[in-house]
Amino acid sequence: MGRTALAVVKLLLREGARPFVSEAKSGDTFASARAELDALGVPYELGGHTGAAFDGVSLIVPSPGVPPTKIPLPASCRADVIGEMEFAFPYCRSKIIAVTGTNGKTTTTELLKTLVAGCGHSVMLAGNNDVPLSAVVTSEPAPEYLVLEVSSYQLELAHAFGPWAAAVLNVTPDHLARHGTIENYAAVKARIYANQGLEDIAVLNDDDPLVCVMADSTRARLWPFSLEHRLNDGLWLDGDSIRLGNECVAQTSDTLLPGRHNLQNVLCALSIMRAGGFDWDKTLAALRTFGGVEHRIEFVTRVDGVDFYNDSKATNVDSLKVALESFPVPVVLIAGGEGKGSDYRVLRDLVRQHVRRLILIGDDAPKIEVAYGDLVAFECATDMRDAVQRAAAAAQRGDAVLLSPACASFDMYTSFEHRGRVFKDAVMDYAREARKGLS
Ligand code: ADP
Repeated sequence: MGRTALAVVKLLLREGARPFVSEAKSGDTFASARAELDALGVPYELGGHTGAAFDGVSLIVPSPGVPPTKIPLPASCRADVIGEMEFAFPYCRSKIIAVTGTNGKTTTTELLKTLVAGCGHSVMLAGNNDVPLSAVVTSEPAPEYLVLEVSSYQLELAHAFGPWAAAVLNVTPDHLARHGTIENYAAVKARIYANQGLEDIAVLNDDDPLVCVMADSTRARLWPFSLEHRLNDGLWLDGDSIRLGNECVAQTSDTLLPGRHNLQNVLCALSIMRAGGFDWDKTLAALRTFGGVEHRIEFVTRVDGVDFYNDSKATNVDSLKVALESFPVPVVLIAGGEGKGSDYRVLRDLVRQHVRRLILIGDDAPKIEVAYGDLVAFECATDMRDAVQRAAAAAQRGDAVLLSPACASFDMYTSFEHRGRVFKDAVMDYAREARKGLS
């Protein structure tokens, strides 16, 4: 009974269907959704999927969070089961730019929105992190372009979804609890290309062994990109130059985003812009304005020669890895939170090379201390404010103070966004005090 379900319900009503909503959870959390459904005259059930949900229905649209295998379909049920994105796709009147991958989806889709808008086109964002596609397809007037962040969950039940441009950024182990093996997970991601036509655009990361083979999954025009090697038919990184074949078409200095991982996101987005025939000068001008997405190695402020960065979205060890690799200067690292059972020791070399001091917070502080305590000086903070004070005291001019927890936030905060905002508030308070002291 979340926002995806409500968007699906409204689209179904518009199309003259008679929807029914079945929610596994019970409780008061759905008060506003219930009020909305009551007002629409749509029946529903809470606290489990009973026969009422499946009796005589012709179509079942599971929410993205519901694994298809967990739907208790009775043997007699003849309904089609399709994902929300698949369901909404036929109603879409905009050109769809779809991006998937394990990491970097939000950064890349936000960047694409900025680039397409910078070229003077109307554009909206939808999908995984944003408004469900079902809600966007009813907007009037329809935007020329729709940039869609696509999760593997949505692709699992996609059989006809065929975007105008599709991109896979990378595939690394994640969500294996749902997909079983990395091969299954990659096969699900490859479905983004499966129904594209000859005139469509397929952008793929040629450096990722699980992604480059997806060229076989599409009939669309192929646009590989690479940070590692020369390409004749796609964008590639040559030192500080971004080239298409031999031609230099951009410079790394055209982006404000830090880190090599972000160059992957930039090359992916630029490939779509190039392949789509967008105005290149306007594309580059828009690229130069894009400062990144909140909570993803987000620059907060500089105090006394020390830069503060908020990377609260780094909820796993992989994200901490790319964050540390992004800093050429010594880092005072604030890390810890609700752990995911990962092995922190895999980053020992990086921590030794990059971290000046470690400030630990949250439930997993003792585990991180065990992993790195013999390599770098560390201290434990009582809360975020204390952590920022300690980090600022330990940092030297030219250093970066980085919140990149490598953990979920739920031990201390309601979400990673909440954690990031608390950090930024603490930093800004510290900055005010420090500047007062200096004046
Ligand atoms: P997603 O929407 O796929 O979760 P985000 O753009 O929100 O991706 O980035 C999430 C985290 O993943 C960032 O904090 C960053 O550390 C890391 N990240 C971003 N882009 C990449 C990339 N291309 N490769 C590896 N890691 C990345």
